[in-house]
Amino acid sequence: MQGFDKTLVWFRRDLRDFDHAALHHALARSRKVYCAFVFDTEILDRLPRRDRRLAFIHAALAELDTALRAAGGGLIVRHAHAVDEIPRLAEALGADAVFANHDYEPSAAARDVAVASRLSKAGRIWQSFKDQVIFERDEVLSQSGKPFSVFTPYKNAWLKALHATEAASLRPYPADPLPGQLALPPETASFPSLSELGFETVEPPLPAGMSGGQALFDDFAERMADYDRARDYPALKGPSYLSVHLRFGTVSLRGLVRRALEEMRLGSAGAATWLSELIWRDFYFMVLHHHPQVVDHAFKPEYDAIEWESGPHADALFEAWCSGRTGYPLIDAAMLQLNQTGYMHNRLRMVTASFLVKDFGIDWRRGERYFAEKLNDYDLAANNGGWQWAASTGCDAQPYFRIFNPVTQSERFDPEGKFIKRYLPALAGLPTKNLHAPWQAPADVLRSAGIALGEQYPLPVVQHDEARKRTLERYAVVKKAKLAAGDED
Ligand code: FAD
Repeated sequence: MQGFDKTLVWFRRDLRDFDHAALHHALARSRKVYCAFVFDTEILDRLPRRDRRLAFIHAALAELDTALRAAGGGLIVRHAHAVDEIPRLAEALGADAVFANHDYEPSAAARDVAVASRLSKAGRIWQSFKDQVIFERDEVLSQSGKPFSVFTPYKNAWLKALHATEAASLRPYPADPLPGQLALPPETASFPSLSELGFETVEPPLPAGMSGGQALFDDFAERMADYDRARDYPALKGPSYLSVHLRFGTVSLRGLVRRALEEMRLGSAGAATWLSELIWRDFYFMVLHHHPQVVDHAFKPEYDAIEWESGPHADALFEAWCSGRTGYPLIDAAMLQLNQTGYMHNRLRMVTASFLVKDFGIDWRRGERYFAEKLNDYDLAANNGGWQWAASTGCDAQPYFRIFNPVTQSERFDPEGKFIKRYLPALAGLPTKNLHAPWQAPADVLRSAGIALGEQYPLPVVQHDEARKRTLERYAVVKKAKLAAGDED
């Protein structure tokens, strides 16, 4: 294996100093290792000036810098165009190689190709490693050697592959430098504050950094056994809330999977269900890698023939959905949760996405973009996969004739209306049975709850049953397109 005098490790969505593939390999193969992060103007310039995610990243970087300094090094933090800055930095530091972990988003993959090419022209080496997933790209394929397009067989093959390679696939990558091996950032390097980056100073949305990830996991570990029972009820503390940490790599996925397997071996059904969710994550990265066109198109091309609603009425409906004023309490409470906290419970992501697409007939891409703007854990692969799933346009699509009913979903998953009341206190005076569809409540019940529909709370902006019929008609074009293509199923 080739050894290097100086290597630069470029951190991106892997903001930790433990169990880190690129850092591990750099330390194993280099005399001296520099560590850097670039606030990429290509990304930052498109963000609103108040962004919770940036606050999370900033806090995570501060902790990473402290940890690296304790080990004798430190983090070089730059605010620049990464494609230019990384080759420039490598040159300034005299690094022979740049190491990073794989990124599967098409624009990030293109960026890495550009960086690798510039480095190569200057005689430097680029190497990247699998780190943020357990299995990537072609590592889990069907028996005929093709990428899976349905989750359950993918999951079975993923589990089989894990059992065959567990020791190797889950082995941690220790990143313990020798004394003096980590290089100090150059004296001129400074750590820009959020305001120096041009952003408002806001608190991170949840405990940030490696310590925040560990604290959240410790809390979840106590509840993991109940995950399968609690996870679907937004009023309960059921899920792990680790998505932002997985997004920015302040936790180690391998470590989480190891813990889930340990719990499963002790008979925890909750751990098995939680592991499935982590497999969904790998699944959508794999889909994005093999089908980068999903960024703009339906996974199933015939669904691109659907004509979505547009014009002022559709815009008004979209606005009602975004601001939580549709008149359907579960939908509205969910959108308020998203707007106020940057998080939305998984069940509610499915129900609100379905509502936008199938009750309003609005293009899934509009909702996808809104989520991308608001979600702290926004991840192109999972967000696109989730939206296409809800719109029935994706791989493993739920059939288009299966349409969530926002009232029965509410009765089922928020039976006591606790979640609804948390975000819609104006409805708190309604009896539980009327909370899910206030327009059906008798006039005297509404009056004694102090609610005049259309004033404190909106009347429903669509009738679900009629919307359902329109959706079935809208999606009929898909059937015609399939028949025309000779596809019978
Ligand atoms: P837990 O229930 O504790 O799950 C553990 C981890 O598994 C999550 O942190 C996440 O990394 C992964 N995971 C769980 N469910 C899924 C899933 N369906 N697909 C892929 N990974 C999953 N997840 C994101 O991380 N970023 C997104 O931008 C995103 N957008 C979504 C949009 C829609 C329309 C839908 C239906 C789902 C979306 N999800 C997204 C998936 C899921 O809703 C979130 O991962 C989950 O709610 C995060 O909460 P948690 O960390 O408490 O999850």
